Amino acid sequence: MAEPLPIYEIERDIIARLQRDKRLILSAPTGSGKSTQVPQILLKHGLLGSGQVVVLQPRRLAARLLAARVAQELGVKLGEEVGYQIRFENCTSAKTKIRFVTEGVLLRQMINDPKLSGVSAILFDEFHERHLYGDITLARTLDQQEKFRPDLMLAVMSATLNAGELKKYLSPCAVLASVGRMFPVEHEYAELPAYSDKRPVWEQAADAFSRYVHCGGEGDVLVFMPGGFEISQTIEAIRHTSEAKGFILLALHGELPPRDQDAAVARYDKRKVVVATNVAETSLTIDGVRLVIDSGLARVARYDANRGINTLLIDKISQSSADQRAGRAGRTAPGLCMRLWSREEHAHRAAQELPEIKRLDLSEVVLTLKASGVEELRKFRWLEKPDEISLAHAEELLTDLGAIHENKITAVGRKMLAFPLHPRYARMLLAAQEYGCVHQACLVAALTQGRDLLLRNCGKEVDSAREDLLGEKASSDFWILMRAWSFAFNNQFRVDACRKLGIHAVTAKQVGPLFDQFLRIAKDEGLDMRPNEVKDENLQKCILIGFSDRVARRMDQGTLRCELVHGRRGVLARESVVQHSPLFVAAEIREIEGRDREVNTILSLGTAVEVEWLRALFPDDIKSDVHVQFDAQQKRVLAAELLKFRDLALSAKRIDPPPADAAARLLADEILAGRLLLPNWDHHVEQWLARLNLLCQECADLQLPAIRDDDRKSIIEQLCHGAVNYKDIKEREVKPIVMSWLSQAQRELLDKHAPERLTLPNGRTPKVNYENGKSPFISLRIQELYDVNQTPKVAMARVPVTVHILTPGMKPIQVTQDLASFWREHYPKIKSELARKYPKHFWR
Ligand code: ADP
Ligand code: MG
Repeated sequence: MAEPLPIYEIERDIIARLQRDKRLILSAPTGSGKSTQVPQILLKHGLLGSGQVVVLQPRRLAARLLAARVAQELGVKLGEEVGYQIRFENCTSAKTKIRFVTEGVLLRQMINDPKLSGVSAILFDEFHERHLYGDITLARTLDQQEKFRPDLMLAVMSATLNAGELKKYLSPCAVLASVGRMFPVEHEYAELPAYSDKRPVWEQAADAFSRYVHCGGEGDVLVFMPGGFEISQTIEAIRHTSEAKGFILLALHGELPPRDQDAAVARYDKRKVVVATNVAETSLTIDGVRLVIDSGLARVARYDANRGINTLLIDKISQSSADQRAGRAGRTAPGLCMRLWSREEHAHRAAQELPEIKRLDLSEVVLTLKASGVEELRKFRWLEKPDEISLAHAEELLTDLGAIHENKITAVGRKMLAFPLHPRYARMLLAAQEYGCVHQACLVAALTQGRDLLLRNCGKEVDSAREDLLGEKASSDFWILMRAWSFAFNNQFRVDACRKLGIHAVTAKQVGPLFDQFLRIAKDEGLDMRPNEVKDENLQKCILIGFSDRVARRMDQGTLRCELVHGRRGVLARESVVQHSPLFVAAEIREIEGRDREVNTILSLGTAVEVEWLRALFPDDIKSDVHVQFDAQQKRVLAAELLKFRDLALSAKRIDPPPADAAARLLADEILAGRLLLPNWDHHVEQWLARLNLLCQECADLQLPAIRDDDRKSIIEQLCHGAVNYKDIKEREVKPIVMSWLSQAQRELLDKHAPERLTLPNGRTPKVNYENGKSPFISLRIQELYDVNQTPKVAMARVPVTVHILTPGMKPIQVTQDLASFWREHYPKIKSELARKYPKHFWR
């Protein structure tokens, strides 16, 4: 029978709310009994019916240990009524009523069986960690509950939850909280900032332990370290202190065999020190802890934009994480937390970790969503919407990898899904299987995961030692890394040996476990991971397939400048060995701020590739494009045939003469923009066009074809046809071509109704000026208008012609559209004055 834990105070509420609303948010401090007791409560009260409760855990280690604990409490064999399922390990049976799983497992189950048959309830544990898969599994579950499974119960549980947003998201949903019992925990900081303490973090931890025990500190000790390596170092360091006597020293992390994991959470008569990863932060409860020593570090999954992958590197934890860790010291009595960083540093730490959705590359999760039929990512019910840039980037990468096509997952994409890896590596390993180099590809993947293996700028001595051993020319920087790693491996990662070649020993050491991990996954997926001898070319092609979004071409031989797909530019790293290759893929793209604050994009981890490979591997992405442009200096059109990989031009071949249509179009553009002049497109032509426009406007019944801007453009193009040079068009006749727009009959109509010249009653034939949008006008000296009593008209007598009346000396007298009233009213008043001024002229 379970102990009376705080959670039992709200047992009835949990049951009542889940029965009524089917949704529940449950927040209670670590150790209250959420993970181990809530599933049992559901079972005990018969809420599960014939189905099971699935408890979603972010960590495999926690899933297994919690299942073991619950099985023990219920007195059943693990794997029967209570079981767990993590990737590649299924410890459940037909009898299983309580099943602990990791996040990916449930999502995969939902892809195959969206209705989740046999599942009565889902508990989302440790939800505050806001793992990507937790977020989207919750979203999918809500969908299913609303659409097909109104009976499905779900509860979101955590020690610290900002329930506000979540409550809205899950609405209608009840929130239950249990305050639990917590004792005060005192905090002690390092005096010096962590960076100024040159000792490794495990020695600092051992020191803290000694001080505590030496001063009579009581109870068990829990130490937080980022990973397996640091944990074993810490245990060794503590073992060497005289205070360690009488303590059992235990490690707790995911890579340990189950027996050792069990041992770490078991109870002993002796005092114990457990050195754990952040699995002990909130996922697992270790009783009796009075001292927490916190390194302040954890392995954190983050998107590394340089490498275009998610990495799991050691990083500083947030303030809120540190508070959770400290809380582990105050479960049974007042406690102490010793932080191995200074109070000042603490103030500068992030208050909280960003949710994974905001800090990870989304391509893996997008692929999973596509597989479960979610095509419209932007309409998905995200708890927190990812940035548009991340979504677009994920789609672009998946398209480049051939995993999705026009929004839908492809057959290759489905195969990739089987690998619990970033899609880049999944694609690379699939390719490696074809090329017989899975083993090597796993090493390449491991080498891109960690920090830089080779240090930069180590001086001449190191450079020449490197060249002797590693060579300086190769078709891939990876070959050099592989050789460097083998060297470090053969020298047991000794710092002195590594230093000679400028190899980062710690990084080198971390490659091994990653390599093993990739090999294990490859093996689990049935790939042939034996270390076969293969041609370099095979592995180069695999790297190309995994990084085809980073194909780069050298822009010239003299510099290291490159152009990349997706319109980016960069400079090949000086230390790269692929400098002889005009085409390569860059597995790393770093942005570095230069001296004058300008950002330099440095391409490294290069692998040479060939155009022929691109043709063979990406037939749909190779296109040849004819590119035509106007060269302003030579005033001529130039054309080239470009061979393109996606949007990256690989090579160019000049075409002479350029295609006529395109050349004419470009020349016409230049003319229309006013950058080239057509001397023969003169006033006459414009007049003719204005006449036509007038008739089109006023006499639609004539049905003459108007010449609008577009038509003007076609006329100019017609004019330019066959030309390549400005010289060719400069002298060309314009008017005949413009006039050919009209038939002979239409031209006659034009001449008749919008004549170039008018014939006045007095026999004069003045020229008419036409202007778009204005009425046409004539200008005459007053004598020339004698006997013209009515305003002349054009356009089938619908448009009066404005008359500009001038003096004999060509000075304006009046502008009018009413000649009759001019003669009648105005003329008599000015006549004598004019006659006096121009006595030699005839006045009547
Ligand atoms: P929560 O999920 O709220 O943090 P748990 O359900 O994990 O709480 O744990 C409730 C209590 O059960 C803990 O306080 C601890 O006393 C006990 N417990 C849980 N797991 C174990 C274990 N493996 N060994 C011993 N005690 C355990
Ligand atoms: Mg828990």
